[in-house]
Amino acid sequence: MMKNTGLANLLFPDVHLSRKDIIAKYPARQLNGAAKVTRFAPSPTGFLTIGGLYATFISERLAHQSGGVFYLRIEDTDKKREVEGSIEGIVQALDYFGIHYDEGVTSAGETGDYGPYKQSDRAEIYRVFIKHLVEQNLAYPCFCDTETLQDIRNAQQSHNEMTGYYGKWAIHRSFTLEQVQEELAKGKPFVVRLKSPDSLEHKIRYTDLVKGDIELPENDQDIVIMKADGIPTYHFAHAVDDFLMGTTHVIRGDEWLSSIPIHVQLFEMLGFKRPEYGHLAPIMKMDGQSKRKFSKRKDPDAAVHYYQQEGYPREAITEYFMTLVNSNYEEWRMQHPTEPFSSFSIDTSKMNVSGPLFDMDKLHDISKNVIAQMNEAEVFEQVAKWAQMYHSELYQQIINQREYTVRILGIGKDTVKPRKDFAKWSDIPAAIAYFFDEAYEADACDVSESLPAAAPLPIAQQIVQAYLEIYNTPDDREIWFDKMKQVADQFGFAKDTKAYKKQPEHYKGHVGDVAMVLRLALSKRAHTPDLYDMMQVMGESRVRSRLSLFTHMVRNG
Ligand code: GLU
Repeated sequence: MMKNTGLANLLFPDVHLSRKDIIAKYPARQLNGAAKVTRFAPSPTGFLTIGGLYATFISERLAHQSGGVFYLRIEDTDKKREVEGSIEGIVQALDYFGIHYDEGVTSAGETGDYGPYKQSDRAEIYRVFIKHLVEQNLAYPCFCDTETLQDIRNAQQSHNEMTGYYGKWAIHRSFTLEQVQEELAKGKPFVVRLKSPDSLEHKIRYTDLVKGDIELPENDQDIVIMKADGIPTYHFAHAVDDFLMGTTHVIRGDEWLSSIPIHVQLFEMLGFKRPEYGHLAPIMKMDGQSKRKFSKRKDPDAAVHYYQQEGYPREAITEYFMTLVNSNYEEWRMQHPTEPFSSFSIDTSKMNVSGPLFDMDKLHDISKNVIAQMNEAEVFEQVAKWAQMYHSELYQQIINQREYTVRILGIGKDTVKPRKDFAKWSDIPAAIAYFFDEAYEADACDVSESLPAAAPLPIAQQIVQAYLEIYNTPDDREIWFDKMKQVADQFGFAKDTKAYKKQPEHYKGHVGDVAMVLRLALSKRAHTPDLYDMMQVMGESRVRSRLSLFTHMVRNG
Protein backbone atom coordinates (compact mmCIF):
# COMPACT_ATOMS: atom_id res chain seq x y z
CA MET A 1 0.00 0.00 0.00
CA MET A 2 1.22 3.51 -0.87
CA LYS A 3 2.09 5.48 2.22
CA ASN A 4 0.73 8.94 2.61
CA THR A 5 3.43 10.38 4.82
CA GLY A 6 3.15 13.83 3.24
CA LEU A 7 -0.52 14.18 4.18
CA ALA A 8 0.08 12.75 7.67
CA ASN A 9 2.82 15.30 8.36
CA LEU A 10 0.79 18.09 6.89
CA LEU A 11 -2.14 17.40 9.21
CA PHE A 12 -0.16 16.46 12.29
CA PRO A 13 3.14 18.37 12.16
CA ASP A 14 3.36 18.36 15.95
CA VAL A 15 3.01 14.56 16.35
CA HIS A 16 6.46 13.00 16.52
CA LEU A 17 5.86 9.83 18.44
CA SER A 18 5.10 6.65 16.53
CA ARG A 19 2.45 4.03 17.10
CA LYS A 20 5.22 1.74 18.34
CA ASP A 21 6.42 4.31 20.89
CA ILE A 22 2.96 4.48 22.43
CA ILE A 23 2.36 0.74 22.42
CA ALA A 24 5.71 0.25 24.17
CA LYS A 25 4.40 2.35 27.05
CA TYR A 26 1.52 -0.09 27.60
CA PRO A 27 3.14 -3.51 28.00
CA ALA A 28 0.90 -6.57 27.98
CA ARG A 29 -0.43 -7.29 31.46
CA GLN A 30 1.20 -10.14 33.30
CA LEU A 31 -1.88 -12.16 34.21
CA ASN A 32 -2.74 -15.83 34.10
CA GLY A 33 -4.35 -17.03 30.87
CA ALA A 34 -7.92 -17.13 32.17
CA ALA A 35 -7.78 -13.72 33.85
CA LYS A 36 -10.15 -11.17 32.39
CA VAL A 37 -9.54 -7.44 32.17
CA THR A 38 -12.79 -5.50 32.23
CA ARG A 39 -13.74 -1.89 32.62
CA PHE A 40 -16.51 0.50 33.36
CA ALA A 41 -16.28 3.31 30.84
CA PRO A 42 -19.00 5.84 31.59
CA SER A 43 -19.38 9.17 29.88
CA PRO A 44 -19.87 11.81 32.57
CA THR A 45 -23.12 13.00 31.09
CA GLY A 46 -25.45 12.48 34.03
CA PHE A 47 -26.19 10.14 36.87
CA LEU A 48 -25.37 6.47 37.14
CA THR A 49 -28.45 4.32 36.56
CA ILE A 50 -29.34 1.07 38.28
CA GLY A 51 -28.86 -0.66 34.91
CA GLY A 52 -25.41 0.92 34.60
CA LEU A 53 -24.52 -0.29 38.07
CA TYR A 54 -25.72 -3.78 37.18
CA ALA A 55 -23.49 -3.93 34.08
CA THR A 56 -20.60 -2.59 36.14
CA PHE A 57 -21.17 -5.19 38.83
CA ILE A 58 -21.01 -7.95 36.20
CA SER A 59 -17.80 -6.50 34.75
CA GLU A 60 -16.22 -6.33 38.20
CA ARG A 61 -17.22 -9.92 38.98
CA LEU A 62 -15.85 -11.25 35.68
CA ALA A 63 -12.51 -9.62 36.35
CA HIS A 64 -12.08 -10.45 40.00
CA GLN A 65 -13.48 -13.96 39.96
CA SER A 66 -10.86 -14.80 37.33
CA GLY A 67 -7.92 -13.11 39.05
CA GLY A 68 -8.00 -10.25 36.56
CA VAL A 69 -8.26 -6.48 36.65
CA PHE A 70 -11.25 -4.17 36.71
CA TYR A 71 -10.74 -0.49 35.99
CA LEU A 72 -12.68 2.75 35.64
CA ARG A 73 -12.16 4.90 32.56
CA ILE A 74 -13.94 8.17 32.05
CA GLU A 75 -15.04 8.72 28.45
CA ASP A 76 -15.27 12.48 28.35
CA THR A 77 -14.56 13.26 24.73
CA ASP A 78 -17.85 15.08 24.36
CA LYS A 79 -17.32 18.11 26.55
CA LYS A 80 -20.59 19.69 25.47
CA ARG A 81 -22.63 16.89 27.03
CA GLU A 82 -20.64 16.74 30.24
CA VAL A 83 -22.62 17.29 33.44
CA GLU A 84 -20.77 18.70 36.40
CA GLY A 85 -20.44 16.37 39.34
CA SER A 86 -21.08 13.16 37.35
CA ILE A 87 -17.59 11.76 37.87
CA GLU A 88 -17.79 12.35 41.64
CA GLY A 89 -21.24 10.74 41.67
CA ILE A 90 -19.96 7.66 39.86
CA VAL A 91 -16.87 7.28 42.06
CA GLN A 92 -18.96 7.70 45.18
CA ALA A 93 -21.62 5.23 44.04
CA LEU A 94 -19.02 2.57 43.25
CA ASP A 95 -17.60 3.10 46.73
CA TYR A 96 -21.04 2.92 48.37
CA PHE A 97 -21.93 -0.33 46.60
CA GLY A 98 -18.51 -1.82 47.28
CA ILE A 99 -17.62 -2.25 43.62
CA HIS A 100 -13.88 -2.17 43.91
CA TYR A 101 -11.78 -1.15 40.94
CA ASP A 102 -8.05 -1.71 40.72
CA GLU A 103 -7.19 1.18 38.43
CA GLY A 104 -8.69 4.39 37.18
CA VAL A 105 -10.07 7.71 38.23
CA THR A 106 -10.51 8.06 41.98
CA SER A 107 -11.73 10.80 44.28
CA ALA A 108 -8.10 11.76 44.82
CA GLY A 109 -6.89 11.64 41.19
CA GLU A 110 -5.91 8.40 39.48
CA THR A 111 -4.34 5.08 40.24
CA GLY A 112 -2.80 2.44 37.93
CA ASP A 113 -0.06 2.00 35.31
CA TYR A 114 -2.23 2.11 32.20
CA GLY A 115 -3.47 5.67 32.41
CA PRO A 116 -4.28 8.41 32.05
CA TYR A 117 -7.77 7.05 32.64
CA LYS A 118 -9.67 10.12 31.49
CA GLN A 119 -9.99 10.37 27.73
CA SER A 120 -9.63 14.14 27.81
CA ASP A 121 -6.08 13.59 29.13
CA ARG A 122 -5.21 11.24 26.28
CA ALA A 123 -5.55 13.52 23.26
CA GLU A 124 -1.86 13.19 22.35
CA ILE A 125 -2.11 9.41 22.32
CA TYR A 126 -5.08 9.37 19.98
CA ARG A 127 -3.43 11.79 17.59
CA VAL A 128 -0.51 9.40 17.12
CA PHE A 129 -2.87 6.65 16.01
CA ILE A 130 -4.91 8.96 13.81
CA LYS A 131 -1.76 10.19 12.12
CA HIS A 132 -0.71 6.59 11.61
CA LEU A 133 -4.04 5.75 9.93
CA VAL A 134 -3.71 8.77 7.63
CA GLU A 135 -0.20 7.68 6.76
CA GLN A 136 -1.47 4.18 5.99
CA ASN A 137 -4.11 5.68 3.70
CA LEU A 138 -6.83 4.37 5.99
CA ALA A 139 -8.09 7.78 7.08
CA TYR A 140 -8.36 11.20 5.48
CA PRO A 141 -9.37 14.77 6.25
CA CYS A 142 -12.88 15.83 5.33
CA PHE A 143 -13.63 19.53 4.93
CA CYS A 144 -17.38 19.25 4.39
CA ASP A 145 -19.38 21.77 6.33
CA THR A 146 -22.96 21.11 7.46
CA GLU A 147 -24.36 22.63 4.29
CA THR A 148 -22.36 20.36 2.01
CA LEU A 149 -23.34 17.36 4.10
CA GLN A 150 -26.96 18.37 3.75
CA ASP A 151 -26.56 18.71 -0.04
CA ILE A 152 -25.14 15.20 -0.20
CA ARG A 153 -28.03 13.98 1.86
CA ASN A 154 -30.59 15.63 -0.38
CA ALA A 155 -28.98 14.16 -3.48
CA GLN A 156 -28.96 10.70 -1.90
CA GLN A 157 -32.61 10.98 -0.99
CA SER A 158 -33.59 12.08 -4.47
CA HIS A 159 -31.70 9.08 -5.91
CA ASN A 160 -33.28 6.79 -3.35
CA GLU A 161 -29.90 5.86 -1.98
CA MET A 162 -28.75 5.26 1.53
CA THR A 163 -27.82 8.50 3.27
CA GLY A 164 -24.45 9.13 4.86
CA TYR A 165 -20.81 9.61 4.00
CA TYR A 166 -19.59 6.56 2.11
CA GLY A 167 -18.33 5.17 -1.15
CA LYS A 168 -18.77 7.49 -4.12
CA TRP A 169 -20.48 10.09 -1.93
CA ALA A 170 -17.41 10.47 0.23
CA ILE A 171 -16.15 13.37 -1.86
CA HIS A 172 -13.00 14.09 0.11
CA ARG A 173 -11.78 10.51 0.11
CA SER A 174 -9.81 11.09 -3.05
CA PHE A 175 -8.53 14.60 -2.43
CA THR A 176 -4.95 15.03 -3.50
CA LEU A 177 -2.29 16.47 -1.23
CA GLU A 178 -2.53 19.74 -3.19
CA GLN A 179 -6.28 19.97 -2.75
CA VAL A 180 -5.88 19.40 0.99
CA GLN A 181 -3.19 22.08 1.12
CA GLU A 182 -5.52 24.50 -0.64
CA GLU A 183 -8.31 23.90 1.85
CA LEU A 184 -5.93 24.29 4.77
CA ALA A 185 -4.59 27.50 3.29
CA LYS A 186 -8.16 28.82 3.30
CA GLY A 187 -8.23 28.08 7.02
CA LYS A 188 -10.98 25.50 6.63
CA PRO A 189 -11.64 23.28 9.60
CA PHE A 190 -11.62 19.54 9.01
CA VAL A 191 -12.54 16.28 10.64
CA VAL A 192 -10.71 13.01 10.04
CA ARG A 193 -12.71 10.10 8.68
CA LEU A 194 -11.91 6.43 8.50
CA LYS A 195 -11.86 5.08 4.95
CA SER A 196 -14.27 2.18 5.29
CA PRO A 197 -13.18 -0.83 3.23
CA ASP A 198 -16.42 -2.62 4.07
CA SER A 199 -19.76 -2.99 2.40
CA LEU A 200 -23.32 -3.31 3.58
CA GLU A 201 -23.63 -6.36 1.33
CA HIS A 202 -21.38 -8.33 3.65
CA LYS A 203 -22.12 -9.50 7.14
CA ILE A 204 -19.93 -9.68 10.16
CA ARG A 205 -20.45 -12.63 12.42
CA TYR A 206 -19.49 -12.56 16.01
CA THR A 207 -20.39 -14.33 19.21
CA ASP A 208 -21.76 -12.10 21.89
CA LEU A 209 -20.98 -13.22 25.44
CA VAL A 210 -24.63 -12.84 26.40
CA LYS A 211 -26.67 -12.91 23.20
CA GLY A 212 -24.73 -15.66 21.42
CA ASP A 213 -24.08 -15.72 17.66
CA ILE A 214 -24.94 -12.49 15.94
CA GLU A 215 -24.83 -11.38 12.33
CA LEU A 216 -24.83 -7.71 11.39
CA PRO A 217 -24.17 -5.88 8.14
CA GLU A 218 -20.67 -4.43 7.87
CA ASN A 219 -20.19 -0.71 8.29
CA ASP A 220 -19.72 1.10 5.01
CA GLN A 221 -19.80 4.64 6.40
CA ASP A 222 -16.61 6.67 6.63
CA ILE A 223 -17.09 7.44 10.30
CA VAL A 224 -15.54 10.50 11.88
CA ILE A 225 -12.67 9.50 14.15
CA MET A 226 -11.42 12.99 14.98
CA LYS A 227 -13.63 16.03 15.35
CA ALA A 228 -12.73 19.49 14.08
CA ASP A 229 -11.40 20.46 17.51
CA GLY A 230 -8.79 17.71 17.32
CA ILE A 231 -10.58 15.50 19.86
CA PRO A 232 -11.37 11.96 18.78
CA THR A 233 -14.87 10.52 18.80
CA TYR A 234 -15.94 8.03 21.45
CA HIS A 235 -15.79 5.12 18.97
CA PHE A 236 -12.20 5.79 18.10
CA ALA A 237 -11.01 6.59 21.60
CA HIS A 238 -12.60 3.49 23.08
CA ALA A 239 -10.84 1.20 20.61
CA VAL A 240 -7.43 2.73 21.29
CA ASP A 241 -7.98 2.63 25.03
CA ASP A 242 -9.36 -0.88 25.25
CA PHE A 243 -6.36 -2.08 23.28
CA LEU A 244 -3.70 -0.16 25.21
CA MET A 245 -5.28 -0.87 28.59
CA GLY A 246 -5.53 -4.56 27.76
CA THR A 247 -9.30 -4.95 28.05
CA THR A 248 -10.32 -8.53 27.30
CA HIS A 249 -14.08 -8.40 27.95
CA VAL A 250 -16.60 -5.60 27.60
CA ILE A 251 -20.02 -5.80 29.23
CA ARG A 252 -22.36 -2.95 28.33
CA GLY A 253 -25.93 -2.05 27.51
CA ASP A 254 -27.37 -3.36 24.25
CA GLU A 255 -27.86 0.14 22.91
CA TRP A 256 -24.24 -0.40 21.81
CA LEU A 257 -24.98 -3.54 19.82
CA SER A 258 -25.62 -1.57 16.64
CA SER A 259 -22.13 -0.05 16.97
CA ILE A 260 -20.48 -3.46 16.76
CA PRO A 261 -19.78 -3.23 13.00
CA ILE A 262 -17.98 0.07 13.59
CA HIS A 263 -16.05 -1.29 16.55
CA VAL A 264 -15.02 -4.47 14.77
CA GLN A 265 -13.89 -2.41 11.80
CA LEU A 266 -11.94 0.02 13.96
CA PHE A 267 -10.02 -2.72 15.73
CA GLU A 268 -9.21 -4.36 12.42
CA MET A 269 -8.01 -1.19 10.77
CA LEU A 270 -5.95 -0.23 13.78
CA GLY A 271 -4.42 -3.71 13.80
CA PHE A 272 -5.57 -4.37 17.36
CA LYS A 273 -6.97 -7.54 18.86
CA ARG A 274 -10.46 -6.64 19.95
CA PRO A 275 -12.04 -7.59 23.26
CA GLU A 276 -15.04 -9.90 23.54
CA TYR A 277 -18.34 -8.09 23.92
CA GLY A 278 -21.41 -8.94 25.94
CA HIS A 279 -24.53 -6.81 25.51
CA LEU A 280 -27.17 -6.65 28.21
CA ALA A 281 -30.85 -6.01 27.63
CA PRO A 282 -32.10 -3.17 29.86
CA ILE A 283 -33.42 -4.13 33.28
CA MET A 284 -37.17 -3.71 33.62
CA LYS A 285 -39.62 -2.58 36.25
CA MET A 286 -43.27 -3.31 36.89
CA ASP A 287 -45.71 -0.55 36.12
CA GLY A 288 -49.13 -1.73 37.22
CA GLN A 289 -49.58 -5.04 35.46
CA SER A 290 -46.96 -4.56 32.77
CA LYS A 291 -43.20 -4.59 32.53
CA ARG A 292 -41.36 -1.64 31.07
CA LYS A 293 -37.89 -0.12 30.89
CA PHE A 294 -36.81 2.32 33.57
CA SER A 295 -37.15 5.90 32.48
CA LYS A 296 -34.10 7.99 33.31
CA ARG A 297 -36.27 11.07 33.37
CA LYS A 298 -39.40 9.89 35.11
CA ASP A 299 -38.41 7.16 37.57
CA PRO A 300 -36.54 8.32 40.66
CA ASP A 301 -35.57 4.68 41.28
CA ALA A 302 -33.73 4.59 37.94
CA ALA A 303 -30.82 6.45 39.57
CA VAL A 304 -28.45 4.62 41.89
CA HIS A 305 -28.47 7.70 44.04
CA TYR A 306 -32.00 6.74 45.06
CA TYR A 307 -30.73 3.47 46.57
CA GLN A 308 -27.92 5.30 48.34
CA GLN A 309 -30.26 7.89 49.74
CA GLU A 310 -32.76 5.27 50.88
CA GLY A 311 -29.83 3.43 52.43
CA TYR A 312 -30.03 -0.02 50.90
CA PRO A 313 -26.99 -1.80 52.25
CA ARG A 314 -24.47 -2.62 49.57
CA GLU A 315 -24.69 -6.31 50.48
CA ALA A 316 -28.41 -6.29 49.66
CA ILE A 317 -27.90 -4.78 46.23
CA THR A 318 -25.05 -7.13 45.36
CA GLU A 319 -26.96 -10.14 46.68
CA TYR A 320 -29.96 -9.12 44.60
CA PHE A 321 -27.83 -8.51 41.51
CA MET A 322 -26.39 -12.01 41.87
CA THR A 323 -29.88 -13.49 41.71
CA LEU A 324 -30.56 -11.49 38.54
CA VAL A 325 -27.31 -12.48 36.82
CA ASN A 326 -27.62 -16.27 37.10
CA SER A 327 -30.82 -18.04 38.05
CA ASN A 328 -28.93 -20.91 39.71
CA TYR A 329 -27.49 -18.49 42.27
CA GLU A 330 -30.47 -18.77 44.61
CA GLU A 331 -30.12 -22.52 44.80
CA TRP A 332 -26.42 -22.14 45.52
CA ARG A 333 -27.23 -19.58 48.21
CA MET A 334 -29.59 -21.99 49.94
CA GLN A 335 -26.83 -24.57 50.05
CA HIS A 336 -24.21 -22.04 51.14
CA PRO A 337 -26.05 -19.61 53.41
CA THR A 338 -23.00 -18.11 55.05
CA GLU A 339 -20.50 -17.98 52.18
CA PRO A 340 -19.62 -14.65 50.60
CA PHE A 341 -21.46 -14.13 47.31
CA SER A 342 -18.10 -13.90 45.58
CA SER A 343 -17.57 -17.65 46.03
CA PHE A 344 -20.14 -18.14 43.28
CA SER A 345 -18.68 -17.69 39.79
CA ILE A 346 -21.02 -15.91 37.44
CA ASP A 347 -21.33 -17.13 33.87
CA THR A 348 -22.36 -14.71 31.12
CA SER A 349 -23.46 -17.53 28.81
CA LYS A 350 -26.07 -18.58 31.37
CA MET A 351 -27.60 -15.14 31.58
CA ASN A 352 -31.08 -14.46 30.40
CA VAL A 353 -31.04 -12.75 27.01
CA SER A 354 -34.05 -10.61 27.91
CA GLY A 355 -33.74 -7.89 30.54
CA PRO A 356 -34.34 -9.03 34.12
CA LEU A 357 -37.16 -7.59 36.20
CA PHE A 358 -35.98 -5.39 39.05
CA ASP A 359 -38.46 -6.32 41.75
CA MET A 360 -38.51 -3.89 44.68
CA ASP A 361 -40.38 -6.30 46.97
CA LYS A 362 -37.76 -8.92 46.40
CA LEU A 363 -35.00 -6.41 47.04
CA HIS A 364 -36.72 -5.54 50.32
CA ASP A 365 -36.90 -9.15 51.43
CA ILE A 366 -33.28 -9.74 50.56
CA SER A 367 -32.28 -6.56 52.31
CA LYS A 368 -34.16 -7.49 55.49
CA ASN A 369 -32.35 -10.82 55.56
CA VAL A 370 -29.01 -9.20 54.91
CA ILE A 371 -29.48 -6.73 57.76
CA ALA A 372 -30.81 -9.46 60.06
CA GLN A 373 -27.60 -11.38 59.54
CA MET A 374 -25.29 -8.48 60.34
CA ASN A 375 -24.23 -8.04 63.93
CA GLU A 376 -25.11 -4.79 65.66
CA ALA A 377 -21.62 -3.35 65.35
CA GLU A 378 -21.72 -3.79 61.56
CA VAL A 379 -25.19 -2.32 61.40
CA PHE A 380 -23.97 0.63 63.45
CA GLU A 381 -21.00 1.26 61.13
CA GLN A 382 -23.16 1.20 58.02
CA VAL A 383 -25.94 3.30 59.51
CA ALA A 384 -23.40 5.86 60.69
CA LYS A 385 -21.78 6.02 57.25
CA TRP A 386 -25.17 6.45 55.63
CA ALA A 387 -26.39 9.01 58.18
CA GLN A 388 -23.24 11.07 57.76
CA MET A 389 -24.26 11.61 54.12
CA TYR A 390 -28.02 11.63 54.30
CA HIS A 391 -29.28 12.25 57.84
CA SER A 392 -27.12 14.62 59.85
CA GLU A 393 -29.50 14.70 62.80
CA LEU A 394 -29.36 10.94 63.24
CA TYR A 395 -25.63 11.02 62.69
CA GLN A 396 -25.04 13.43 65.56
CA GLN A 397 -27.36 11.51 67.81
CA ILE A 398 -25.82 8.09 67.28
CA ILE A 399 -22.22 9.24 67.22
CA ASN A 400 -22.70 10.94 70.58
CA GLN A 401 -24.37 7.86 72.03
CA ARG A 402 -22.48 5.16 70.26
CA GLU A 403 -22.65 2.37 72.83
CA TYR A 404 -26.30 2.98 73.55
CA THR A 405 -27.11 2.90 69.82
CA VAL A 406 -25.21 -0.33 69.27
CA ARG A 407 -27.23 -1.90 72.08
CA ILE A 408 -30.47 -0.58 70.57
CA LEU A 409 -29.54 -2.06 67.20
CA GLY A 410 -28.70 -5.34 68.89
CA ILE A 411 -32.20 -5.88 70.26
CA GLY A 412 -33.74 -9.07 68.90
CA LYS A 413 -30.57 -10.10 67.12
CA ASP A 414 -29.28 -12.71 69.50
CA THR A 415 -31.96 -15.29 68.74
CA VAL A 416 -32.49 -18.13 66.29
CA LYS A 417 -34.87 -15.93 64.35
CA PRO A 418 -33.30 -12.49 64.41
CA ARG A 419 -35.60 -9.54 63.88
CA LYS A 420 -36.19 -8.56 60.28
CA ASP A 421 -37.88 -5.22 60.42
CA PHE A 422 -35.29 -3.04 58.68
CA ALA A 423 -35.01 -3.12 54.90
CA LYS A 424 -32.88 -0.01 54.55
CA TRP A 425 -31.02 2.45 56.73
CA SER A 426 -33.66 5.12 56.24
CA ASP A 427 -36.10 2.85 58.14
CA ILE A 428 -33.95 3.23 61.22
CA PRO A 429 -34.32 6.86 62.40
CA ALA A 430 -38.06 6.56 62.95
CA ALA A 431 -37.78 3.03 64.31
CA ILE A 432 -35.32 3.87 67.08
CA ALA A 433 -36.15 7.53 67.76
CA TYR A 434 -38.01 6.92 71.04
CA PHE A 435 -34.93 5.39 72.64
CA PHE A 436 -33.41 8.86 72.65
CA ASP A 437 -34.73 11.19 75.30
CA GLU A 438 -34.99 14.31 73.15
CA ALA A 439 -37.10 12.52 70.55
CA TYR A 440 -39.18 10.76 73.19
CA GLU A 441 -39.88 14.01 74.98
CA ALA A 442 -40.64 15.87 71.78
CA ASP A 443 -43.10 13.19 70.67
CA ALA A 444 -46.49 14.84 71.13
CA CYS A 445 -48.54 11.72 70.50
CA ASP A 446 -51.38 11.25 72.97
CA VAL A 447 -50.57 7.92 74.57
CA SER A 448 -53.91 7.79 76.37
CA GLU A 449 -55.60 7.25 73.02
CA SER A 450 -53.72 3.99 72.44
CA LEU A 451 -54.16 2.49 75.88
CA PRO A 452 -55.98 -0.86 76.06
CA ALA A 453 -59.71 -0.51 76.70
CA ALA A 454 -59.26 -2.35 79.99
CA ALA A 455 -56.72 0.19 81.21
CA PRO A 456 -57.73 3.79 80.55
CA LEU A 457 -55.42 6.51 81.78
CA PRO A 458 -56.14 6.61 85.53
CA ILE A 459 -55.94 2.81 85.81
CA ALA A 460 -52.91 2.65 83.55
CA GLN A 461 -51.21 5.19 85.80
CA GLN A 462 -51.97 3.14 88.88
CA ILE A 463 -50.65 0.01 87.15
CA VAL A 464 -47.41 1.79 86.30
CA GLN A 465 -47.14 3.15 89.83
CA ALA A 466 -47.55 -0.34 91.25
CA TYR A 467 -45.05 -1.72 88.80
CA LEU A 468 -42.50 0.96 89.68
CA GLU A 469 -42.62 -0.17 93.28
CA ILE A 470 -41.43 -3.69 92.44
CA TYR A 471 -39.36 -2.99 89.33
CA ASN A 472 -35.77 -4.10 89.65
CA THR A 473 -33.45 -3.75 86.65
CA PRO A 474 -31.26 -6.82 87.24
CA ASP A 475 -34.27 -9.17 87.25
CA ASP A 476 -33.98 -11.90 84.67
CA ARG A 477 -36.68 -12.35 82.10
CA GLU A 478 -38.63 -14.83 84.20
CA ILE A 479 -38.71 -12.76 87.37
CA TRP A 480 -39.46 -9.69 85.32
CA PHE A 481 -42.47 -11.41 83.82
CA ASP A 482 -43.61 -12.73 87.19
CA LYS A 483 -43.68 -9.17 88.43
CA MET A 484 -45.89 -8.10 85.58
CA LYS A 485 -48.22 -10.97 86.38
CA GLN A 486 -48.22 -9.86 89.98
CA VAL A 487 -49.32 -6.38 88.99
CA ALA A 488 -51.94 -7.85 86.63
CA ASP A 489 -53.37 -9.90 89.45
CA GLN A 490 -53.39 -6.94 91.80
CA PHE A 491 -55.65 -5.04 89.35
CA GLY A 492 -58.00 -7.91 88.55
CA PHE A 493 -56.32 -8.76 85.24
CA ALA A 494 -55.66 -12.38 84.22
CA LYS A 495 -52.04 -13.51 84.75
CA ASP A 496 -52.04 -15.28 81.42
CA THR A 497 -53.96 -14.81 78.23
CA LYS A 498 -55.17 -18.41 78.08
CA ALA A 499 -57.02 -18.06 81.39
CA TYR A 500 -58.43 -14.79 80.14
CA LYS A 501 -59.67 -16.29 76.91
CA LYS A 502 -61.42 -19.11 78.75
CA GLN A 503 -63.33 -16.82 81.09
CA PRO A 504 -63.05 -13.22 79.97
CA GLU A 505 -65.96 -12.23 82.17
CA HIS A 506 -63.86 -13.01 85.25
CA TYR A 507 -61.23 -10.40 84.50
CA LYS A 508 -60.85 -6.73 83.64
CA GLY A 509 -58.11 -7.61 81.17
CA HIS A 510 -54.94 -9.69 81.04
CA VAL A 511 -51.21 -9.45 81.53
CA GLY A 512 -50.77 -8.41 77.90
CA ASP A 513 -52.61 -5.20 78.71
CA VAL A 514 -50.16 -4.52 81.50
CA ALA A 515 -47.28 -5.03 79.09
CA MET A 516 -48.94 -2.69 76.60
CA VAL A 517 -49.33 0.00 79.23
CA LEU A 518 -45.64 -0.24 80.08
CA ARG A 519 -44.67 -0.28 76.42
CA LEU A 520 -46.70 2.82 75.69
CA ALA A 521 -45.43 4.61 78.76
CA LEU A 522 -41.82 3.87 77.84
CA SER A 523 -41.92 4.48 74.11
CA LYS A 524 -45.22 6.17 73.24
CA ARG A 525 -45.54 3.38 70.65
CA ALA A 526 -47.81 0.38 70.44
CA HIS A 527 -45.23 -1.56 68.41
CA THR A 528 -41.72 -2.02 69.68
CA PRO A 529 -39.26 -4.86 69.84
CA ASP A 530 -39.35 -7.21 72.84
CA LEU A 531 -40.30 -5.26 75.97
CA TYR A 532 -37.84 -6.94 78.30
CA ASP A 533 -34.93 -6.31 75.93
CA MET A 534 -36.09 -2.77 75.38
CA MET A 535 -36.12 -2.05 79.12
CA GLN A 536 -32.72 -3.65 79.59
CA VAL A 537 -31.26 -1.43 76.87
CA MET A 538 -32.99 1.71 78.13
CA GLY A 539 -31.51 1.11 81.55
CA GLU A 540 -32.76 1.81 85.05
CA SER A 541 -32.81 5.57 85.26
CA ARG A 542 -34.42 6.08 81.86
CA VAL A 543 -37.09 3.45 82.62
CA ARG A 544 -37.83 4.95 86.03
CA SER A 545 -38.00 8.50 84.81
CA ARG A 546 -40.25 7.69 81.85
CA LEU A 547 -42.56 5.56 83.96
CA SER A 548 -42.90 8.15 86.69
CA LEU A 549 -43.45 10.87 84.10
CA PHE A 550 -46.33 8.75 82.83
CA THR A 551 -47.89 8.48 86.28
CA HIS A 552 -48.03 12.27 86.36
CA MET A 553 -49.31 12.69 82.87
CA VAL A 554 -52.43 14.75 82.41
CA ARG A 555 -54.69 13.82 79.56
CA ASN A 556 -54.16 16.04 76.52
CA GLY A 557 -56.89 18.56 75.75
N1 GLU B 1 -18.85 5.75 27.12
C1 GLU B 1 -19.80 4.78 26.69
C2 GLU B 1 -21.08 5.00 27.50
O1 GLU B 1 -21.29 6.08 27.91
C3 GLU B 1 -19.25 3.40 26.91
C4 GLU B 1 -19.71 2.35 25.97
C5 GLU B 1 -18.84 1.13 26.13
O2 GLU B 1 -18.86 0.56 27.23
O3 GLU B 1 -18.11 0.76 25.21
O4 GLU B 1 -21.90 4.15 27.74
